[in-house]
This record gives sequence, C-alpha cells and structure tokens, in this order.
Amino acid sequence: MALALRVLQPLAALPPLTVHIVPHTHDDCGWLKTFDAYYSGTDNWLHLASVRNILDAVVLSLAKEPSRRFTFVEQSFFQRWWSEQDDAQRSATRRLIESGQLQFANGGWCMHDEATVHFVDMIDQTTLGHRMIAEEFGAEAVPTVGWQLDPFGHSATQAALLSAEAGMNALFFGRISKEELKRRRASRSAEFIWRASPSLGADAQVFAGLTGEYGGNYVPPEGFDWATREGEDDPIEDNPNVSSYNAPKKLAAFLVAARAQANETNQLITLTLTLPLSLSLTLILPLTLTLTLTLTLTLTLTLTLTLTLTLTLTLTLTLTLTLTLT
Ligand SMILES: [Zn+2]
Repeated sequence: MALALRVLQPLAALPPLTVHIVPHTHDDCGWLKTFDAYYSGTDNWLHLASVRNILDAVVLSLAKEPSRRFTFVEQSFFQRWWSEQDDAQRSATRRLIESGQLQFANGGWCMHDEATVHFVDMIDQTTLGHRMIAEEFGAEAVPTVGWQLDPFGHSATQAALLSAEAGMNALFFGRISKEELKRRRASRSAEFIWRASPSLGADAQVFAGLTGEYGGNYVPPEGFDWATREGEDDPIEDNPNVSSYNAPKKLAAFLVAARAQANETNQLITLTLTLPLSLSLTLILPLTLTLTLTLTLTLTLTLTLTLTLTLTLTLTLTLTLTLTLT
C-alpha cells in the first residue's frame, strides 16, 4: 500500500489521461505449429495455443456483460470457427457484431508479411477476408483499422494501397527498425501521419501508430501479461482479506505504465476543442479544420468565446465568426 500511495499521489497532480484498453488477437496462422494445430489446440507442447477456445470464450464472455469489447483479426481462424457454429451461436455472434462488442481489425485472411510478398497477394488475401465479413455481417462490419502487429518491417504499399486506399482510417504496427524506434520514442513521434505514396500524396495518407508499449512489439506493459504461457504475471487480486491482495500495487503499476506510454507520443490521435457553448468536438485528424460560427442576434449580445486547442501537428485552423445584428 505504501508503494501505491507513493506512486499515486504525484500522479494525481498531473492532467487527466484517457486510457483505451483494446483486447485483441494476434493469432499466428502458422508459426511454431500448423494452422490446424493452432486452431484446435493440439500439439500444445510446441506452443500453448487454441484459437477455437479463444473464440468460444470471447463470445461467452461478451454475451454476459454488454460493456465488454473484443477485437478479432485473422479471418482464416474466424471463418473456420464460424463454419462450426450452430444457428443459436451464429445468432448470438451476429448480435455481438451488430452492437459493436465484437469487432474486426485488419480482417485479411491472415496478417500478411510486407517485406517479401507481391502486392497482388496482399490485395487478394485482404479481399478474401473482407468479402466474407461483408457478406455475413454487412459492409459496416468491414474493418477500418489496419492491424499489422507482427510483420518485420512495413512497406509503403501497405500504408498507401492497403490502408488509405482500402478505406482504413488508421494503421497500427509493432516491429520497426531499432534506429527508427529509438528516434521516434525520443521525439515523441510514435504516432504520425504516413504519406506513403509520392504520386497520390495526401489522398493516400493514413494515421499510423506503434503498438504495445512502443517497445517494438505488441506486448502489454510489464506485470500485465496474462497470456497462456510460462512465466505469466500475477493476476489482480482485489480481496483485501487475503494475503495475495495486490490490487493497489497493480493499479499503481498500471498508472505508471499508462503515463509513460502517453509521454512517448505527441498524442495527435485526439484533438479536443472545447467551447463555452457546450460544444465539444473530438476529431480524428482532419488536417484542415474550418469552423464557422454564425449567430443571428436581437438587441444586445455579450459573447465570450474561449478556445482551447492543444496541438503539435501542423494544422490550419480557420475560425470565422460572423455576427449579424438585426
Ligand atoms: Zn506472430
């Protein structure tokens, strides 16, 4: 408890921080064992993994609590699982997708490599996954976020053709070169706009961000890794009457990790404008924002306008205030 207080008291003086926790998959469609073994959970001596169990547990858990969310990625696994479900389970899954509790990111047949593949293959396998999602769950369920956590290095083709040109609003990935990672962490530019096509320019740019704790991978912060493998971290015990009670310590560690991660980006993903007219806008990166406020007034008017804008990206903001007195 003393440790928790030592950490929490100084943190309490800092500006509030909004933390988004995104439960998601990264299910290799082939790595240490075969696709079939990864799906069914056989050959667990090679790698402890069963995607079928993940999807069974996720759907059950989401149905129990409407506030829960989960993001699934690899369509080769999802479609295998979908083909095994009965009508009742399919209906329950459809409801979760319609409500937004279960969402898809990336949505390709797999999370393809970017270094050695031909762009036609990247298009084909992404199309295959997206087509099934659209046919089964409607166009609104097709992913709008690219999720390339594990490919080793990233290509302009992915950023331009398979992201912006494919209707993606954002592209997240983990592994980049060590020098690039070091520079981005030092300059707080772990989030950025990737304008990957010289010919298409701004028409094909995409918001890009590193994943995990910006350590060049997609792992959770230290102490919060509960993946099913050896060496997993302690779970959170919130019962103060037992000797393993650790909730305050875990909370303190989480806040430290969240603050550290926030400090490694210039947080350009969220631009918040606050106006005293009870108008609050949260925008995802329009590079040029034009706000026109027109008021038609009778008799006298006292107008106080306060604009708070926190921004580190080059931004053109035009505020036109037209007052017409009648
Ligand atoms: Zn992987």
